[in-house]
Amino acid sequence: RPAFSRFLPDEPATLSLGAALAECIAPGLRLYLGGDLGAGKTTLVRGLLRGLGYRGKVKSPTFTLVELYAISSLDLYHFDFYRFDDPVEWEHAGFREYFNPRSVCVVEWPDKAAGILPPPDLDLRLVFHGSGRIVHAVGNTDRGHQCIQRLKA
Ligand code: ADP
Ligand code: MG
Repeated sequence: RPAFSRFLPDEPATLSLGAALAECIAPGLRLYLGGDLGAGKTTLVRGLLRGLGYRGKVKSPTFTLVELYAISSLDLYHFDFYRFDDPVEWEHAGFREYFNPRSVCVVEWPDKAAGILPPPDLDLRLVFHGSGRIVHAVGNTDRGHQCIQRLKA
């Protein structure tokens, strides 16, 4: 499976990786972000949203679990499942419907909803490395592979 790794020395590096990802975002894409607390997942989403032209505030939806960004033609749902522990809540909140071919879903802490979430196109993991981070990306679908090719370019 096509994979990609890069050292991200500082926050601007994480933001530019997010902005680079904006170029391969299309309706239906699922992007999952793994990594410990403080690894830079929300920072990457902020870079991605900036890359898509969104200028407002971006913070992790820790309590609400999901935040919608309606950007020109696409709906991007930003999930944070850090506090998710109840599969019943998944049904009640209607999360299944968010994962549709028209919307982009970006998920922090996908491991907390393992077994419920559909598989991602692109799987990213951020790992602490010195004062920076290393990102590991794996493409699981054709669209995911295309993103990896773009990141490598
Ligand atoms: P998470 O959502 O994974 O919990 P955040 O995106 O909130 O993490 O980031 C936590 C902190 O890490 C922020 O202060 C951010 O500036 C910093 N950060 C992000 N990327 C990097 C990086 N590549 N190197 C060093 N610090 C980073
Ligand atoms: Mg976060």
